Amino acid sequence: MGHLSDTRTSQIGLPKNWPPNWNSGEIPYVFNFHSIGVKRLISLVKQGHNYIENRSCLKFKEYDPRIAVKQPNNFTFLQYNYSGVLESCCLLYFSKPYGRRMVLITPTCAMPAEVAHATLHGMGLLHKHREPFTDTEVKEVFFFKKCDRDKEEFYNRKT
Ligand SMILES: [Zn+2]
Repeated sequence: MGHLSDTRTSQIGLPKNWPPNWNSGEIPYVFNFHSIGVKRLISLVKQGHNYIENRSCLKFKEYDPRIAVKQPNNFTFLQYNYSGVLESCCLLYFSKPYGRRMVLITPTCAMPAEVAHATLHGMGLLHKHREPFTDTEVKEVFFFKKCDRDKEEFYNRKT
């Protein structure tokens, strides 16, 4: 876990720590079912994923946590946790590039766009301190694989 400005890369393209098992455009994730407020967590994360999926060629696929940890070859997945404490979601909560990458959702980041923001950090995207992600950086990840043209138009409308 570190502050974002420390490790930001200006390189356009996929993040340096992009795991090979995400090259299909499918991002595996699990819920930490031991989190408090797990029902709320599930609902917020689904909305955040919808927000990204509607604007990108990415797909999020839920795994059973017990199965995700048993996948071979550094299988990398997001693990969503909920905390009722008003902590920032605008941080990297993982240090190892492979395996489990924690994403923290709290009441300060409950809007779909904010859950999407926290998810992008879990995916290895960085931005300058107190600035949003740049459109160019996000677009490189959202459309690193081509899919539906309508999605790109929807993204460009910035809704
Ligand atoms: Zn952030």
